[in-house]
Amino acid sequence: MDSIHFREKAQKEAAKHKQAVSQFKARENGIHFTCPICKAPNAFYKNLVLHMENKHPNAKIPSEAELAH
Ligand SMILES: [Zn+2]
Repeated sequence: MDSIHFREKAQKEAAKHKQAVSQFKARENGIHFTCPICKAPNAFYKNLVLHMENKHPNAKIPSEAELAH
């Protein structure tokens, strides 16, 4: 009986771990905006705008639609 409980628990833990991994992968793939100048990755368009204002103040900032892919 104990071993059955243990196995159920282990399966639950494994499922939880799998979910966490896929969430991590989703976050990893959540980088949609890459700086066209230095290729720095940004998860959000507003971060990229800030990055470009700070690092490349003379560069034209592309629109969100131009960068999204
Ligand atoms: Zn840059």
